[in-house]
Amino acid sequence: ERKKLGKLKKMPSVTLDGTPVTLLANIEFPDDCVHALEGSAHGIGLFRSEFLFMNRAANELPTEEEQFHSYKQAVIAMKGRPVTIRTLDIGSDKPIDEDEQTSLNPALGLRAIRYCLAEPQMFMTQLRAILRASAFGPIKLLIPMLSHAFEIDQTLALIEQAKAQLRTEKIKFDAEIRIGAMIEVPGAALALPMFIKRLDFLSIGTNDLIQYTLAIDRVDHEVAHLYNPLHPSVLFLLSTTIAMAAKAEVPISVCGEMAGDIKMTRLLLGMGLREFSMHPAQLLSVKNEILNSDLSVLEPATRKILRSYEPQVIAEAVERLQTL
Ligand code: PEP
Ligand code: MG
Repeated sequence: ERKKLGKLKKMPSVTLDGTPVTLLANIEFPDDCVHALEGSAHGIGLFRSEFLFMNRAANELPTEEEQFHSYKQAVIAMKGRPVTIRTLDIGSDKPIDEDEQTSLNPALGLRAIRYCLAEPQMFMTQLRAILRASAFGPIKLLIPMLSHAFEIDQTLALIEQAKAQLRTEKIKFDAEIRIGAMIEVPGAALALPMFIKRLDFLSIGTNDLIQYTLAIDRVDHEVAHLYNPLHPSVLFLLSTTIAMAAKAEVPISVCGEMAGDIKMTRLLLGMGLREFSMHPAQLLSVKNEILNSDLSVLEPATRKILRSYEPQVIAEAVERLQTL
């Protein structure tokens, strides 16, 4: 099996009917790029930058210089392939300080972009570091947990401010850097035109999208059995988001766990997804699925699944997709 997957490395990632599919890796540290390349990833779809901020001495944040070196290391390691750096997604399941209990419902509290907009100095330090690294290879900026138009506007204004500072200081960066949003709050998926209008690309975070759609804490074992990626509401949000982005010609990927689950690959292909970002260890298994998938068969089968509201019927039909 390992040998077989090894052979897949050199093959282009296309479906049986010849449609190319982009395969990207999720990483936590620049060193993980080695694994992304081993799995022949086309790039990094999600660099979870918060891991540079976690497990440190209290009140000690990585400096601009330290962050710059990490981001630059990743983009150089990827040798011209794009690296999507997500800005700090701290809070909730990723506390910056393990001992600090910030709020009663951290998943609904001051996390991710909310935290960054509340700490603009810290955010500017990160934005400057990412922009500086963009002088060394293709970098894309990805913003987590956006749900309001004013949050997008404030974030874009801070990025412009960071660019202006660097220009004044005569420091190089990619002036055309692409800026995208994670779609991981149901309100964002339901108001997608607001995002499409303001941003260059989108990435669906199914881990949080499922958590918030079904009101299930993703780290609470007592409700883990209710965490269902195939819930009709989740499939509705996923399929409408993918279709709307495609129609607007805004690139869209999925970077949550669903993208690396081979039981979901054909369903996502059938919905129109053409960019998957996953743990590097999943890359070749998902590629194997893609190479054996025929979109002309998957698309009508998926449309049928999306019309159903019976969990059992959906589960069985999704399983059957793997045999088509
Ligand atoms: C997600 O929510 O699906 C996602 C990719 O981000 P994270 O798992 O880091 O919250
Ligand atoms: Mg998330």
